[in-house]
Amino acid sequence: MLIKNIGLMFSGDVANPVLDADSILVEGGRIAAIGRGLQGAGAVWDAKGCAVMPGLIDNHVHPAFGDWTPRQNQLGWIEAFVQGGVTTMLSAGEVHIPGRPKDPVGVKALAIAAQRCFSAFRPLGAKVIAGAPVAERGMTAADYAECGAAGVQLLGEIGLGSIREPEEVAQHAAWARAAGLNMMIHCGGPSIAGSNRMGFDQVVAADADIVAHINGGPTSLSAEELTRVMAATTRAIEIVHNGNPRTALHALNTLREMGRLDRLVLGTDSPAGSGVQPLGVLRTVSFLASVGGLDAGLAIAAGSGNIGKWRGLEQGVLAAGRPADIVFIDAPIGGAGRDASESLALGDLPGIGLVVIDGEVRVGARSRNTPPAARVPELA
Ligand SMILES: [Zn+2]
Repeated sequence: MLIKNIGLMFSGDVANPVLDADSILVEGGRIAAIGRGLQGAGAVWDAKGCAVMPGLIDNHVHPAFGDWTPRQNQLGWIEAFVQGGVTTMLSAGEVHIPGRPKDPVGVKALAIAAQRCFSAFRPLGAKVIAGAPVAERGMTAADYAECGAAGVQLLGEIGLGSIREPEEVAQHAAWARAAGLNMMIHCGGPSIAGSNRMGFDQVVAADADIVAHINGGPTSLSAEELTRVMAATTRAIEIVHNGNPRTALHALNTLREMGRLDRLVLGTDSPAGSGVQPLGVLRTVSFLASVGGLDAGLAIAAGSGNIGKWRGLEQGVLAAGRPADIVFIDAPIGGAGRDASESLALGDLPGIGLVVIDGEVRVGARSRNTPPAARVPELA
């Protein structure tokens, strides 16, 4: 596949968010080259001057099994996210499964089953990285090691289970890290029944890869406490769609003042009580770019490449050798912006044309969920 006449290329790389290039060559599901005036055989897509960005990554979802969520009893929600430009999503714990087991054997069995099921099941091509056990009292170092050895990559949000004291948070996080699990800790007031408030003491004790929903999921810490959390930790800070918008802006501004926008990652924390938001990552990008005054390319990087880096994934950036997960976006018809960048800065949602995953067109030539894009790619 050759994509030509790209008007604007967002890289997903926070250090270099816009590339000086107009074409992408795809071979074998991966990006073979990025440049100007590239030539190639195979399908040639004329982008008609619209923008491309890496497939968005939702850093925070709560899947169950299949393309169904018991939280809102909704079918097809993962496919709907692909229609919103999300090509990869990471489980923060399969906590909505009715009757979720809480004993160590049950926790492990569920995590391994979820990891296996979503490895083999890709709705509309989505890469769902699931199997995120929830830390419960009674689990030991050997339990986490067994998960890691079985192929589980993630630990669900610490604090959704029975772990609540800083000492036990630190102990379980250390066991999970030793098992090779990439982990997140819930931050803020309790969410689902049985979960706990995770504040400064717990979050700092965990030293998790991701401080989940710094702006609350859905109830936020105070601005003062979350400022202290960001100063005392060194890893990724997550803003979610299903959180508090006021503290989201506070977190953004704090990271900007620290010069650490590379720490910013985005998720939806859906499905949730507030619903399923197929455009949640895109809406958060638009919110941060408009109300937050964040450069559109940096906002997109927070929803793609930054997550890839903190999660150890190869997707999330447009670069040679990476998976060809590419989303075509443009100003929506009728909007005040002339291109995707201006539309985001003005708070509009860009229209999605094509969604390509591993070099295969999965949505085209218009998303069913976004407003229509002004310029839509065509097969040349
Ligand atoms: Zn949470």
